Amino acid sequence: MTLPDDVARTYQIAEHAIAKIKTNDLAAFPPNYEIWFSYAAGFNPALNKRINEILRSGQVVDQQTLETIREEFFGAGSFEERVDEVGGKLSGKVSEILELINEAAGLTDNYSDGLEYASKNLSGTLDKTKIKAIVKKLISMTDEVGKSNRAMSGKLLDSEQEIAALKEALESVRYEAMTDQLTGIGNRKRFDRAMDEAMVTAEATGEPFSLLVCDIDHFKKFNDTHGHQTGDQVLRLVASTIKATMPNGGIACRYGGEEFCVILPVTRAGAAKDMANAIRQAVMGKELVKRTTGETLGRVTISIGVAELNASDSVISLMERADKCLYAAKNAGRNRVVAETELDQQQDAA
Ligand code: GH3
Ligand code: MG
Ligand code: MG
Repeated sequence: MTLPDDVARTYQIAEHAIAKIKTNDLAAFPPNYEIWFSYAAGFNPALNKRINEILRSGQVVDQQTLETIREEFFGAGSFEERVDEVGGKLSGKVSEILELINEAAGLTDNYSDGLEYASKNLSGTLDKTKIKAIVKKLISMTDEVGKSNRAMSGKLLDSEQEIAALKEALESVRYEAMTDQLTGIGNRKRFDRAMDEAMVTAEATGEPFSLLVCDIDHFKKFNDTHGHQTGDQVLRLVASTIKATMPNGGIACRYGGEEFCVILPVTRAGAAKDMANAIRQAVMGKELVKRTTGETLGRVTISIGVAELNASDSVISLMERADKCLYAAKNAGRNRVVAETELDQQQDAA
């Protein structure tokens, strides 16, 4: 039997992967196999580079190293697994508590039936033996209910602690879902949520808020010149600079690519423009040094559009107006901040 070429190739990759698992004294569990299969197939050059560095240094790739690699390169899958795990555990706990409640309800029903029976049979009887038997039965039933209540409150206390731990796990999963993996600041999802919340608050309190849309200047050229990895390093630096420079209460998110948004609650356009300029200058003030070689790469600049919420705004219209300002800043030569008032002047002048 001859195999199709692509299937035959998977066999070769699999053999290569298994050989690597063996020479590194690892178990051939599916998660380990997945990494080595990906390595043997060359799916992810960064993964291969990492592993090759270890092998070249004469070390083995032990289980612990493999776990670290797994977290770094197969992070998305493990995140989903954790969401499933926490969700599954939480619904398991809810079922357990429901069962406990049903059990308690059943016991209370029995107890109240017993009381009713006792009350019916005790009324009008003077038969001592009968009274004694009923009282004895009542004492034993009360005892049973007491025991069961104590057991139940113990179980509920355990559940309460487990639920508190699950809530914490859920919180960390939620935090991860709202965080940009590259820069560690809020991601697009976080931005969308925060904008909705800021709109609701502004409407309820009548307080202003402003939005900054920041975009790195000529970033494509930077990437083309210095490589994507160094580009990533710059994205991290710009994100951390924005975060460190913006005022308390501001929310900085990576909107996508090389674009960042900052929500400034209770801030008018004038003050927002000053803050934007402080951010712009802070970014410009950073000298870029390539981490691997120490080589100096110069500086990057950013352009920023500023818009303040007005009464008829939706999230989309506010964003569009800030974007317009950003593009005006780009057209005016980059490395600058444009707010709406200037936009009007520019249009008037045109
Ligand atoms: P402008 O001054 O007009 O904004 O020019 P620009 O080159 O910054 O803008 P353009 O939209 O043409 O290019 C954006 C570049 O951003 C394209 C891509 O190389 C880079 N980029 C987007 N996302 C990432 C990322 O996650 N990592 C890296 N390293 N680069 C990214
Ligand atoms: Mg750009
Ligand atoms: Mg852009």
